[in-house]
Amino acid sequence: MDVSFWDEDVETAQPETLQQIQLDRLRDIINYALKTPFYKRRLAKVGINCDDDVKSVDDLDKIPFTTKDDLRQNFPRGLLAVDMNEVVRIHSSSGTTGIPTVIYFTADDIDNWADLVARCIRATGAAAGDVFQNMMTYGLFTGGLGLHYGAERVGMTVIPIGGGNTKRQIKTMKDFQTTVVHATPSYLLHVHSAILEQGMTIDELALRKAYIGAEPHSENIRKKIEQLYNMDAYNSYGLSEMNGPGVAFECVYKAGMHIWEDAYIPEIIDPATEKKVEDGQTGEVVFTNLIRRATPLLRYRTRDLACIIPGQCECGRTHRRLSRITGRTDDMLIINGVNVFPSQIEEVVMNIPEVGTNYQIHVDKVGALDKLVVKVEIYSKMFRGDAKQLDALKGKIKDELRASIMINPAVELHEPGFLPVSEGKAKRVIDNRPQQYKD
Ligand code: AMP
Ligand code: ZN
Repeated sequence: MDVSFWDEDVETAQPETLQQIQLDRLRDIINYALKTPFYKRRLAKVGINCDDDVKSVDDLDKIPFTTKDDLRQNFPRGLLAVDMNEVVRIHSSSGTTGIPTVIYFTADDIDNWADLVARCIRATGAAAGDVFQNMMTYGLFTGGLGLHYGAERVGMTVIPIGGGNTKRQIKTMKDFQTTVVHATPSYLLHVHSAILEQGMTIDELALRKAYIGAEPHSENIRKKIEQLYNMDAYNSYGLSEMNGPGVAFECVYKAGMHIWEDAYIPEIIDPATEKKVEDGQTGEVVFTNLIRRATPLLRYRTRDLACIIPGQCECGRTHRRLSRITGRTDDMLIINGVNVFPSQIEEVVMNIPEVGTNYQIHVDKVGALDKLVVKVEIYSKMFRGDAKQLDALKGKIKDELRASIMINPAVELHEPGFLPVSEGKAKRVIDNRPQQYKD
């Protein structure tokens, strides 16, 4: 295995050293937090009025969690900790409710973030000389610019193509012999179908690595991408509240994503009791950002569900690893009383060889009951066989789904290209039930 580092001393630091860095940075960030009206009030309630009131990293436990609602209620400047003259960038997102959240960055904040992303890239073995096609959306969404800055810092040749325009993506991959791509897994799967449609083969391209993230995906989706493209795919995790990509990333061992613990303090909590759970147990991921002074966020509840993987990684990094995100506290579907995570459905359908690259989950109310329909695209050759074969495949998908999610779904089989494709985050679940039945 090619184990490379960007900042070896920090990446392999002993736990005591890491803790000391965390404490120093926590104190620094507390000072900035205290400059915001929001945290000044909150921290005073728990006896923190200056950095000296934080004696150890464990003092973090006293601080209440910060939620997305806190961000929304303090829009636009309630969490701004520096003078606007020092702010060099704003990222903002508008969630489903339409009330935006905003994150401000100083020049140092951007610099520190780029450094973390550079670490991620080096951890996958990519380096100067690689041609990096950044197929993630640029703009207020952090995915595009986040990787862009890190890749330039490493010295890669960056093609800032952004999301969409699939034909051009493919031509660009070929013209410049792209070696590394960054995209959502759903979009990469779509691009593969388009490559074949054009009568091209993967051998005409020089792809070696993909960074996939921004949306939940299963191990089977990763395997599918690796097989279809004959390249390595690395899981990339981040969220705009923690800067964006570069929070946790897989190294060449692909055994979970190293969380850069000198920059982010992770905690996993039971979302119902808000108590911390042990390493290895799944719960809601909570992060404290130690390196962004313009918008400090302490104990931010991400709503993402995952666990910390116990034990050491073979690469020698001491920073602990985050498991794949298995869902969100808010994406669980309750179907006729049964809890179903979309990730369970994906795990099943993407493990069936006849299934192609796209699927969608529909939930409707029919009379008093919820009806779950799983729509999957299958390879065109399947439609050339006889109807019996199709029925058998449908039966197989149904049986495997029922065994996994404990309810009986309807399954629809479609030709490739039937379901809508997104250039960014895929919309996998269409829940048509009236609101009162959804939770
Ligand atoms: P945004 O703030 O718009 O960048 O969205 C961040 C959210 O995207 C996270 O909280 C996750 O729910 C999701 N996300 C990002 N990266 C991944 C990943 N690698 N796997 C699963 N979900 C992800
Ligand atoms: Zn590792």
